[in-house]
Amino acid sequence: MDILETYDNYIRDKAKQDNGWLRASSAGRCFKLQQYNLSDKTPEPFTDRTLRLFRLGDLVHQDIQASIDLVQSMKSSIAQSHVSIEKEITISEFGVKGHIDMVVFCKEVTEIYDIKTCSSYKWSKTFGHKKNRDENSDVNYKLQLGTYGLGLTASLMSKPIELYLLWYNKNNSHVKKVSVSNEWMTKAGNYWQALQETLKDDLEKGDLNCPVSDWECKYCQYSKYCEGE
Ligand code: SF4
Repeated sequence: MDILETYDNYIRDKAKQDNGWLRASSAGRCFKLQQYNLSDKTPEPFTDRTLRLFRLGDLVHQDIQASIDLVQSMKSSIAQSHVSIEKEITISEFGVKGHIDMVVFCKEVTEIYDIKTCSSYKWSKTFGHKKNRDENSDVNYKLQLGTYGLGLTASLMSKPIELYLLWYNKNNSHVKKVSVSNEWMTKAGNYWQALQETLKDDLEKGDLNCPVSDWECKYCQYSKYCEGE
């Protein structure tokens, strides 16, 4: 049996995504790329190695989530909090959908967690020696988290929200929980609003916001279309 091919087929199937909606996980990306996401253009498929990397991240997610599930199942029914795993959010106004890794509904507050598995390089850009840090390294992560906050707000009846990124370094298994300001909910709303307005008008005339970062085009699944336009 070709184990490698079997595994690559399995994770390729798992990577298929919904059409017609923008993904919360794409918050902060270039507007042109978002337009391609909504079009019928076929994205360049991820390489098998990249899909394996994503899958590794998924497995860490599942393990952390399973541990929370286990603790929840042992709690009494009058517990002061409960946890929702992979909670779906929809923001119709912006045409955005997503799944929150973990939401902890406490009596006084609701905590939203997004788990980020990363390389040591990314970790050093965010938590390393000050001279090596890039202050924008986690901007898109915060916009994604802010989007989740926005997606839950309507159902929370004004209960306060706390946002957290749970970082996991794949090279050495270091873990860090980082609190993120709620102002990222406003910033996320501004991003999606500006994107909708640009898509509604004329993408060619609007501020394309692209590429937002130097690395975007290198990893973009639509670069073959974009370069030709
Ligand atoms: S190639 Fe660059 S500019 Fe073009 S859609 Fe992709 S990220 Fe945006």
